[in-house]
Amino acid sequence: MSRTLPLQASAVETSTGPRRFHVYTLRNMHEIPGLERMSAEERFAMQVVANVLPFRVNEYVINELIDWEQVPDDPIYQLTIPQRDMLAPESFNRMADVLRGDADRAEVQRVAREIRGELNPHPAGQMDLNVPEFEGEKVEGMQHKYRETVLFFPSQGQVCHSYCTFCFRWAQFVGDKELRFASNEADTLIEYLRTHHEVSDLLMTGGDPMVMKTRNLAQYLEPLLAADLDHVQTVRIGTKALTFWPYRFVSDKDADDLLRLLEKLVRAGKHVALMAHYNHPNELATPIAEEAIRRVRATGAEIRAQGPLLNHINNDAGAWATLWRRQVQLGIIPYYMFVERDTGARRYFEVPLARAWDVYRSAMQQVSGLGRTARGPSMSADPGKVEIQGVTEIHGEKVFVLRFIQGRNPDWVQRPFFAQYDPQATWLNQLKPAFGEKEFFFEEEYRRMLAAKQA
Ligand SMILES: *Cc1c(COP(=O)(O)O)cnc(C)c1O
Repeated sequence: MSRTLPLQASAVETSTGPRRFHVYTLRNMHEIPGLERMSAEERFAMQVVANVLPFRVNEYVINELIDWEQVPDDPIYQLTIPQRDMLAPESFNRMADVLRGDADRAEVQRVAREIRGELNPHPAGQMDLNVPEFEGEKVEGMQHKYRETVLFFPSQGQVCHSYCTFCFRWAQFVGDKELRFASNEADTLIEYLRTHHEVSDLLMTGGDPMVMKTRNLAQYLEPLLAADLDHVQTVRIGTKALTFWPYRFVSDKDADDLLRLLEKLVRAGKHVALMAHYNHPNELATPIAEEAIRRVRATGAEIRAQGPLLNHINNDAGAWATLWRRQVQLGIIPYYMFVERDTGARRYFEVPLARAWDVYRSAMQQVSGLGRTARGPSMSADPGKVEIQGVTEIHGEKVFVLRFIQGRNPDWVQRPFFAQYDPQATWLNQLKPAFGEKEFFFEEEYRRMLAAKQA
């Protein structure tokens, strides 16, 4: 590693007792140690943004992942602490005025809701298109977009140990009930899976399912061991706990129970994968983070790593190459590099697709084959996951070469298609078909899918 982090606690903690989870939110953000070095104006800006976008960071992240000497450029600081430019200047000023005035709480909330409404809170058809039906009823807390994989949002998992400033699911965390995506129906999930033999993968997500007590997690996962759920071969758990709270796997009260639960699934023949969210090699620099990885891997579960490319955090091929090398060293399989999604604080984090491809390619060139298992840069767009395969010139026209990694129609997967090169474009809906074609090959069918759902 290029630097060492200040270590107040380490794996040693496991022998001196568990570490207490202490979290900072909008209410007590002024108590964060380290912020006293910021100006009053900077602290006010943080507060303005935190009244619109969700804010939550725990003391492990503050004390051991953020290098306060590098603030404000420190990547983990940018990952967790609100910054003025995450809001458009008009929106920022509106909220700042409200907070400076004598507005009551209701007024602050009203303005916050209005600003949030302008931030495309539900990208990629999450609210409608992907929610499956069972016996004629919409199944809340579930998404079934790609044939093989069901996403499930357990209601107790609708929070994280810290929030990422760029989170594409931010709307779930700001308390607007109707924007939420959750379920407390283990039974409905299991029933749904029983009758859907095309589903090979269950992906538990959130929030972060690892905020749940092991006994609650077991409620969802143990039923999968029944004979009539043999077709669900893979259990994936999307989590950032390996970064934000590795104690979950080491010294929390039910850490050992959790590992036993994973082991039980593995022994029963399931492929168990933690889909670990990583953004920067600094997240892998503490002894406790290593210890958590070691313990998870000892259960026979795999760890696959994914995360978006983000301006201000990891917009740098060297950081990605280091991240992938370090992951391989620790036994983690690099899986996806995502494009920052078209929601929330995108204005602050987004990177042009052309730049994303440059970073990806340059990082790939710096690692061995084992680090090259990360696909991307990939956009999780309405029609599917679309990867930028490259930039090239065909018959004198500069183009993006694209392909579906996942598609609403499985038949779209792996078909190359072409868009006019656009150095500024940051998302699929800004791209135009190359070679004078009117639309991309999937668009007509996609429109029909939308119409059918809305009918
Ligand atoms: C990414 C994603 C999945 C999983 O896709 P894989 O390519 O199998 O990892 C499933 N559902 C949705 C909605 C997704 O965005």
